[in-house]
Amino acid sequence: MNHRHGIVKKLSAPFYHLLLILVLLTPALTAYAAKLPDLGSSDLIAYNVEVEQDLGRAFNTALHTQYNLNYDPDVVTYIRKIGHEMASQTGESRQFKFYVIDDLSINAFAGPNGIIGIHTGLILAAKNEDELAAVIAHEIAHVTQNHLSRGHEVNSKQSNLNTIATLLAAALIGMYDSSAVYPTLLAGLSLDIEKQLKNSRLHESEADHIGIQFLSQSGYDPHAMGDFFARLAKKEQNNTFKTPEILRSHPVTERRIAESENRAQTLPARHPKQANNQFALIQLKLKTQGAQQSPPLLTQKNTPAIACYQKNLQALNTHNPLPLSDLTCLQTLVEQNPNHWLYTTLLLRTLVKHQINDPKIISTARHQADYLLDIYPNNTAVLLSYVNLLRHSNNTPKAIALLKTHTKSQRYRYLAYKKLSEIYANQQQTAEAHFFLALAQFNIGNIKRTQYLLKQAKITADRFLKQQIVRFEQENSKSLKTKKINNH
Ligand SMILES: [Zn+2]
Repeated sequence: MNHRHGIVKKLSAPFYHLLLILVLLTPALTAYAAKLPDLGSSDLIAYNVEVEQDLGRAFNTALHTQYNLNYDPDVVTYIRKIGHEMASQTGESRQFKFYVIDDLSINAFAGPNGIIGIHTGLILAAKNEDELAAVIAHEIAHVTQNHLSRGHEVNSKQSNLNTIATLLAAALIGMYDSSAVYPTLLAGLSLDIEKQLKNSRLHESEADHIGIQFLSQSGYDPHAMGDFFARLAKKEQNNTFKTPEILRSHPVTERRIAESENRAQTLPARHPKQANNQFALIQLKLKTQGAQQSPPLLTQKNTPAIACYQKNLQALNTHNPLPLSDLTCLQTLVEQNPNHWLYTTLLLRTLVKHQINDPKIISTARHQADYLLDIYPNNTAVLLSYVNLLRHSNNTPKAIALLKTHTKSQRYRYLAYKKLSEIYANQQQTAEAHFFLALAQFNIGNIKRTQYLLKQAKITADRFLKQQIVRFEQENSKSLKTKKINNH
């Protein structure tokens, strides 16, 4: 031990990192692959749960601080609903987290500790919700089978988790070469690491096999997995566009597709999902957000509902007054489909954007939002658009109260805490603004930043807020403690 630390100390920082990467990736993978008699079982390796959780936290921070995530509440809420519905089929104790990467490459990945990333390019390339769900199911299966953690379990204990997390994120997102953090260091290594992260054929067929079950149990079409991967592979062959990133880390073979197809045949016929146009609406949203250059969508039935949604969506980005007929059609959609939350969130945003103050319209919209929060307590999109409507109607105290009551019951709290911080900052309540920003950072695993912001908050906090801060620190003392890693 001492001997190794001595070596490490003498090396310059880049070399130290280089050593770390090699130690981390190469021996761990090869040694374990050699020892493993069968990759089909997930419990062969007693990997360290705590290390995986720490690495997951660092990975989460890296995603949020170094990459473009898509924070559109509608988009993330939609993806998370699909993801968590399927994750609930797994019997896993790990808490899955689903994030959307704002990137037009066709990609998805499973990071450490159940963190799954879906690129916007993949959402746009899918033909329907079943295909999108199929890829998510496949990634969930990589997690439940511990495919990634098998590679890093040995050495991450003494390593700098933030560095590993950053490298993993870069490699999984497919931005390895252009990573701004370690450009020179990575240049010579990128090929090797890419190879290490490429899932083996065994892992791929296992992820298909297990994933198809999650897919089918959630009421999706089990054929969608083979269909989607086959179509992507065919596109690659025809060279219609550049190789989808996902095929690099998830290699597709004819055999793999045939296996998926056979597997799908044995599963119960699809119990039809409730007819729903949410997938089409989310694709439209992504298109209007600047994904116009992406290939044309494979699905667009232009129903009156979709046309109405699209008109109101486009009107959010213009300065022109909203034609009354557009508002009326949206109000009718909400009235006729009270559970279709995407119609409601668009209506709430439309009222704010076009400065509509009619008390009757506002009050109806508020009732509708209350109703949705009751039935979907995890729906961040409804919560945030409701908060914005309340601020628009000069009811900031109610907006703050709503955020405080509902954020705690939400699975993802980052955006809601950020919103609280923003509201307090607008009111020049700096201590509160710092405190809630600290909570937001804590939620994405950024411990350093959390500690800094808590310190800032304490400077001007009143007695009541100070108590709150202390209580938070006590409740999370274990996570907030800085890990003494490589403290030479
Ligand atoms: Zn895969």
